[in-house]
Amino acid sequence: MADKKMYELGAVRSKFSELFEYGQAQAAKIGWEHIYDFSLGNPSIPAPDCVKEAIIDMLDHKTSREIHSYTNARGLLEVRQYLADYMNETYDAGVGPDNFHLTVGSSASLAVIIRALQEDTSDEFIVIAPFYPEYRIFIEPIGSKCVVVPPDTEHFQLSIEGVAKAITPHTRAIIVNSPNNPSGTVYSEDTIRRLAALLKEKSAEIGHPIFLISDEPYREIVYDNLPILYLPHYYDNTIVTYSYSKSLSLPGERIGYILVPPTVDDHAYLMTAILGTARMYGYVCAPSTYQRVIAAVRGATADISEYDKNRHLIYDNLTKMGYDCVYPSGAFYLFVKAPDGNSLQFMENAKKFNILLVAADEFACPGYARISYCVDADMIRRSLPAFKKLLALYK
Ligand code: PLP
Repeated sequence: MADKKMYELGAVRSKFSELFEYGQAQAAKIGWEHIYDFSLGNPSIPAPDCVKEAIIDMLDHKTSREIHSYTNARGLLEVRQYLADYMNETYDAGVGPDNFHLTVGSSASLAVIIRALQEDTSDEFIVIAPFYPEYRIFIEPIGSKCVVVPPDTEHFQLSIEGVAKAITPHTRAIIVNSPNNPSGTVYSEDTIRRLAALLKEKSAEIGHPIFLISDEPYREIVYDNLPILYLPHYYDNTIVTYSYSKSLSLPGERIGYILVPPTVDDHAYLMTAILGTARMYGYVCAPSTYQRVIAAVRGATADISEYDKNRHLIYDNLTKMGYDCVYPSGAFYLFVKAPDGNSLQFMENAKKFNILLVAADEFACPGYARISYCVDADMIRRSLPAFKKLLALYK
């Protein structure tokens, strides 16, 4: 027999997969053109041409062995050197190649860093609602407690008082995610400064560092010229997890990294623990082709201005209709209040008009729903009458 906990992890279906299957079945009946699928965070904008060019150039000029061999477990040195140079030029990060560990995306980065930091199962990890549901999966099956800070439903920043209450002598780390999935908000510099001050004070109080894990797969997807903050400048014990799934539109290729800056306590020891954890999880190394691609494209991103257009299209229209929407500043999600506060029912009602959106209950924020606008702009336009009818149900 297999392990029961693992069986349950595999058997419990998320709202995402239920919706996905529902969408497929409906599309078979009435055609995709009549389905308005806003359920997934799968980038709709193509990867930039430089990705294809880098792959072709590699295939044309390198031997099979050079391209496809195992790499160093931390990632190719020249790629980590490129990442260090890029972060130093862009954010004045003061890092070197030994501060990076390449992974198979943010999910892997998080699973690895959480396990590498866990000293024993009494360790607690704090998450801020609304949060990406997989955080819980990286924390609870390894025996730790996932401590949830309730959402700040006024501004969708983070409640500093809530974090202060959540900290105990067992707190090992806190995970933040900005730009945020699912709220689409970006934490302000003031929020980060206040969080950093609190974590410094509480680390001194409990007698060991509280690590800040900054999960940044949407780092470059910000609007209105908002600044992109480099969190280690605000708090020394910050570890960054990054992914190219969203910025380069490469979610299926599985490439990202963990950055442990030299300001982190015992950073060299932690880097070795990361190596050990990745070894235990059996990743061996990040995909060799895509390691080289990310260095070759030198900070390029997909055309984020396309998401910005979708953002205006959906936010402006839904707000005009009378929906209560959180102003989206980053990522590609619009967070909408269920008109009567019942988000699960809202999701069901939306299905009646073939709109697929996700109730935020799974993100620990009941009462809201997530609309992913990383979709075809034309689908947004076609969906607007359906959104009108959906709201009319509540009038
Ligand atoms: N963290 C957040 C906040 C996300 O939204 C996602 C994916 O949607 C991930 C991590 C995982 O991304 P990856 O594809 O890099 O594993």
